[in-house]
Amino acid sequence: MIWDLSHLVESVDSTLIQRELESMVTEAEKVRDKYHGKIVGLDAKGVLELLEMKDAHTLKFEGVNTYCRLMYSADSTDDVAKQLNDAVRRASMRVGQALAFINIELGKLLAEDPSLVTDPVLAEYKHYLERILRRVPHMLSETEERLIIVKDKNGINAWQMLQSDWLSVRTFDIEIEGEIKTLPYGEIIGLYESPDRDLRKRANQIVYEGLGKDEIIWASAIRAVCEDHLQMSKMRKYQTPMIQSLIGNDVDQQTIESLMNTIEKNVGLYQRYLRLKAKVMNLDKLANYDLIAPLPNAPEMDYSWREARKEVVDAYMEFDDETGGWVDEMFEKRHIDGEVRKGKESGAFCADWLAGKSAYILQSFNGKMGDVYTQAHELGHAVHAYLGSRAQKPSNYEIGSCIAETGSIFGELLLTERLLSKAKTKEEKQAILANILDEFGMTAFQVSARVFFEQSMYDAIERGEFLDGEAAAKLWVEARDKIYGDSVDWLDVMRWEWTMKPHYYMANYRFYNYPYVFAQLFVFALYQLYKEQGESFVPKLKRLLAAGSSKSPRELGAELGFDITDETFWEKGMKQAEEFIDMLEETL
Ligand SMILES: [Zn+2]
Repeated sequence: MIWDLSHLVESVDSTLIQRELESMVTEAEKVRDKYHGKIVGLDAKGVLELLEMKDAHTLKFEGVNTYCRLMYSADSTDDVAKQLNDAVRRASMRVGQALAFINIELGKLLAEDPSLVTDPVLAEYKHYLERILRRVPHMLSETEERLIIVKDKNGINAWQMLQSDWLSVRTFDIEIEGEIKTLPYGEIIGLYESPDRDLRKRANQIVYEGLGKDEIIWASAIRAVCEDHLQMSKMRKYQTPMIQSLIGNDVDQQTIESLMNTIEKNVGLYQRYLRLKAKVMNLDKLANYDLIAPLPNAPEMDYSWREARKEVVDAYMEFDDETGGWVDEMFEKRHIDGEVRKGKESGAFCADWLAGKSAYILQSFNGKMGDVYTQAHELGHAVHAYLGSRAQKPSNYEIGSCIAETGSIFGELLLTERLLSKAKTKEEKQAILANILDEFGMTAFQVSARVFFEQSMYDAIERGEFLDGEAAAKLWVEARDKIYGDSVDWLDVMRWEWTMKPHYYMANYRFYNYPYVFAQLFVFALYQLYKEQGESFVPKLKRLLAAGSSKSPRELGAELGFDITDETFWEKGMKQAEEFIDMLEETL
């Protein structure tokens, strides 16, 4: 259960590792010395040489980079790990500074000579160059860009910091088993998933009542963030407030419109699930504090490390031998850290190791069904890396949020299929289905409410309205009700739910939300295609994952025979969700 990081480096001697990091910086500086100020004069061959050099640099030092970061994730209290983490952060920052000129100068070159994008010599980097070119019209002058960085430091960044600092020092008094406890925000939210319904209700009531009292802080912050974004969008000549995010995520407006239309048309499907979940929980109707609650009669399903490995490997094996083999290799080579211990980073992640054509995974494995799902999820990321690293250079493996979760969510569905086929009781089946449908509902539908809310704030400001706390709360409730209708009872204080969503306040992170909706529905649609096409779908999915970021999501969809700007594609995802909902209904 403990990973072996030694594969990443030639030697684990920390002095030698520090030396490696030094040469990572000096070699990047050599690239800078050779090309800085000269990119505008390059021809196609010259550009190819530069990009290949940049990619070779990434691959050469990727192992040592990853080693230092993972050492620290594994134990942040270890002195050597702390030193290495600090060293790698400083070195990476210097590399970033040294090479920042490349995309800026490439942008200028491509703006002058867009034909380079389609030059056959640069065929492998075509989409990489297209993405750079798409950003060029929105760049301002160097002086203006520098001014923006200075302005943001005490502007947007300061609002973000105020929101997060303020939230993190809030405390809440709550009675638990006859005793009044004072809990910080990070702790009290854990009670939202308590099996005790009354406790869940009180935790929600106390938190949001408390947050509502500070409405003036949250409203000032969110208003500043939104108004700043509107002004900057105009200066940068984005036609709508969403365009900057669309470019960043390599998608277009038509695609996102058709995605969001599909969501709006299918709110009834989600509401049907919520009514069924109420029945399973023996309630007339769900309240907001039941949405992520565990089912009251869910059986305890425990897994040993070995059992979990078998379930997950077999789930992938049933899909494809090669894929299942890679998943097994991740265990065999000890590229997964599952041990629960102090000093280890919480949560789970998969770190790609392109140079080694593999990956590393960290999780804290407690033997619950959720842990097996986490494993299946992160191993899906690993499979993505196995395929991508065999087919792409690093520049073509910068996968945007819409596509990044394809392997991982697909893996969760494979596991679901396997667990369902083995489930012996109806309670087991219900627990498995509720698990996958809760996630689907939260990610596809609840997050859509946040997309509507964000859009409605820009619209309100453009109409000249003043967004105080109550005005923002009203927009939040409207967006929420568009999704939930009357299928859920909300505590009145839930109108303050927007106050704690950190993403709304993050600098340069507007419209972060629809990629989650995209990813969820995209993979459900792919899974439906897999069900329809069987084995012949397997190579198609593998090609899609192997493409990395060398193609846009729209091109990837086209290769599957679909136009993702058309709602027909997204409806396939809804059909998959409907099948799970039907299965749940059959258990009643
Ligand atoms: Zn993921």
